[in-house]
Amino acid sequence: MEGKKIRVTVWNEFRHEKEMEAVKAIYPQGLHQCIGEALGKDAAFEVRLASLDEPENGLPQEVLDNTDVLFWWGHAHHQEVADETAKRVADRVLGGMGLIVLHSGHISKPFQRLLGTTGQLRWREDGTSTRIWAVNPAHPIVQGVGPYIDLAQEEMYSEPFLIPEPDELVFISWYKGGEVFRSGCVFRRGAGKIFYFQPGHETYPNYKNEQIQRVLINAAKYVAPTVQIQDVYGCPCVPSLEY
Ligand code: ZN
Repeated sequence: MEGKKIRVTVWNEFRHEKEMEAVKAIYPQGLHQCIGEALGKDAAFEVRLASLDEPENGLPQEVLDNTDVLFWWGHAHHQEVADETAKRVADRVLGGMGLIVLHSGHISKPFQRLLGTTGQLRWREDGTSTRIWAVNPAHPIVQGVGPYIDLAQEEMYSEPFLIPEPDELVFISWYKGGEVFRSGCVFRRGAGKIFYFQPGHETYPNYKNEQIQRVLINAAKYVAPTVQIQDVYGCPCVPSLEY
């Protein structure tokens, strides 16, 4: 691919993989490494990894300033993400950075801050299957994915999902128990785009699934910035053009 690469940072809480044998067995170097490796196969991307226990939660201003698209996977330690970190992430999104919030990131601080709602939902971990329907076949995020993705096991997430009306609805999931869920949603905030995508419970190998990887690649390209605004709080008084 010609031109500048899309600079991706894959951020992971990265605790389960160190503390739980079942998770370590699936993602020995962390699920962010698995996602990063999948993205790295596409020449469009330049990938770096970051995690919660690094200084400034792995996301100092300098890293965010050099990130076009940020992936976010968090689960049990949302409250350990500093408010300042969440604000830095949200401000970068308002300025144009793309944000891809995965799975249990639905209640992460940056997502709640940008959406203005709690992001709560109903859930059940019973090891059953899901079918993820691509409800808009024309959407760039579903290209090459097919009409649906079947996953043998995924955590059940269901409606009501306490989000604002999505700007673009991309996927709806159906679960064995009969529940449905808006599992792929695009939101526009300021100059940035946010994509929420449901799959990715830590005890199932779903980030190794080729269709899921295709969605992540497409989504990273889709939410990549079209503009970058440096001062999102700028509010200048301007002279009239006519007198
Ligand atoms: Zn989960």
